[in-house]
Parts: sequence; structure tokens; C-alpha cells
Amino acid sequence: MKHTRLTRLHQMGLGPVWTLRADGRAQAADVPHMAVPEAPLRPGEPIVARLVAAVVASASGASAADAIAVMDWDVLEASIRSCTRCGLCEGRRHAVPGVGDRGARWLFVGEGPGRNEDQQGEPFVGPAGKLLDNMMRALGLARGENTYIANIVKCRPVGADGRDRPPSADEVAACLPYLQRQIALIGPDVIVALGKTAAVSLLGLADDVALASLRGKPRVYAGVPLVITYHPAYLLRKPVDKAKTWRDLCVAKSLADAR
Ligand code: SF4
Repeated sequence: MKHTRLTRLHQMGLGPVWTLRADGRAQAADVPHMAVPEAPLRPGEPIVARLVAAVVASASGASAADAIAVMDWDVLEASIRSCTRCGLCEGRRHAVPGVGDRGARWLFVGEGPGRNEDQQGEPFVGPAGKLLDNMMRALGLARGENTYIANIVKCRPVGADGRDRPPSADEVAACLPYLQRQIALIGPDVIVALGKTAAVSLLGLADDVALASLRGKPRVYAGVPLVITYHPAYLLRKPVDKAKTWRDLCVAKSLADAR
């Protein structure tokens, strides 16, 4: 199975011949400068995942997206953790693939990891995460039970001032194939886009639209109902909009229940 995956990548022009170096690290024999990233393997991380991640990191945009589109969960998550497809890899402490039930009916999508998420390697921790947990509980859901939580970008975008910032268009374009593969693997009944970045990135819209103009009308993404609502971090700053968010979540529940 793993051999087949690598063979397929090689057939797409992505797969160099890999050899094991004297120091135990794998290296591409026909691309001598390209080696598997230095970070040690995580417990249980398959070496094939690290190899594929290195291949994807070195591939051009379309080829890399093709490779990501056929990954299984283990390879996908390992690839994200080893990814160098955009500059956000340089400052990250942890890449944050996502968390939850891989067969969930509900998929919540945020913008990107913040400081807490970067430190812990899990999306939506801290005060915004607590609010998201409360929102899920109000729907009769719980983190990890029939829910999956992911972000548009998997590494923390940091501004020059050291604070969290929205990802750039290039960063979104580099990272989106990972989320697209996650959506295909999960096959959710409904997607909830939390905030404008999630909404415009999934729908391919310009980012000069206001979230208020996107809310209230369910969309479809890859055949899955998509409901747009406010990001929990925004709701912490503007709790008056929690009522609107609850209405959005009720619409999402009715769409999920109808499937
Ligand atoms: S944000 Fe996405 S594309 Fe950029 S380095 Fe992280 S995982 Fe790779």
C-alpha cells in the first residue's frame, strides 16, 4: 500500500529514488540536495510519511496538490507537520493539522493557529477554544465526538509586531490542499466556517467582503452544506453577536439533520 503510494508519486514525476544514508536519514539519490527534514520522527510516525512530506515540499504547486489529494490520514498529518510549502513553517513551534473524529458529521473550520495553538499543537485552545466548545455543547456535540476542528492554514501567522495576523493569500493557497484532503477524508454532513478568512478561502472569494454580507445564506462546498458564522475570538470581543451565531448554528444543525 505504502509502496503503491510512492510509486504513484513517482509516476507523477514527484518521486525521486530514495536511499538510506550512513547516518540513518533518508536522502533522494537522484536529487542529492534534497533530504528528509532534520526533525526526529514522532512516536508512531511512519517513515514513508516523512519521505512523502519531503517530496511534496519540493514539488511545484499543482503536483504537490495532486500528491496531497491522494494521501491517507497518517501521511497527511505527517506531511503537515513536516511541511515547508510556505514561510509560516519558519516561525512555528507546532504545525496544527486539526483535532477530532475522522468520521465526523460536523466540521468546524477556523483561520489559523494562534499563540496557544502553536504552543500546544491543537486548534482552538484558550478562551476562543472554550467558547467553541460551549457552542458545540449547545448543539449537543463535543470536541472529538462526531466533530472535527481544523484551520485554513496549519501554522501560526505572526505579524512583524509579534501578534497573530490573518494568513496572506499565498499562504492560504499553499495550505488549502491539506484542508481539501481533510474534507474529502472526513466526508462531513455540514461545514461551519468560523470567520471571514475561513469563508472566503473556502469559497474562493475576494477578502474585501464583510462577514455580515456572507452570513445568513447557506452555501455548498464540494457538495457539502457550508454555513458561515462569526469566529469565537470575535465573539469574545463582541458578545452581542452570539445570538446571530446561535441562529447560524441552528441552520447548520437543520442542514446536518436533513442529510
Ligand atoms: S501553513 Fe500550511 S503550507 Fe504553510 S508551512 Fe504550514 S502546513 Fe505548510
